[in-house]
Amino acid sequence: MIYPYHCDECGLEQDIVKPVSECSNPEKCKDCDSLLRRVYTAPLLYGTSVYEANHNPALGQTFTSKRQEQYYKDKHNLIEVGNESTKVMKRDIESERRKRLDSGYDDIV
Ligand SMILES: [Zn+2]
Repeated sequence: MIYPYHCDECGLEQDIVKPVSECSNPEKCKDCDSLLRRVYTAPLLYGTSVYEANHNPALGQTFTSKRQEQYYKDKHNLIEVGNESTKVMKRDIESERRKRLDSGYDDIV
């Protein structure tokens, strides 16, 4: 589980990953060594926007926030592929087409 913590001393926000059985263990700030306060948020409600709990079958994990999901990916060195913008591909095709036209091929659509 990922537990969000707040340092009242220096203001640092940090997420700490630990098993549920250790969820009530105290944690110290990595910056100033003060005791951290655990932040409790209403389920599925982050700030003013609602992020629906999202089960990611590829990771076998359910995330309740984009931040949590990103944290998990960063921690495990995971990079999402397959959702790249198609604009990039279109631009590549267009520049390739122009290159070929410039070099004399004009039969390429
Ligand atoms: Zn601190």
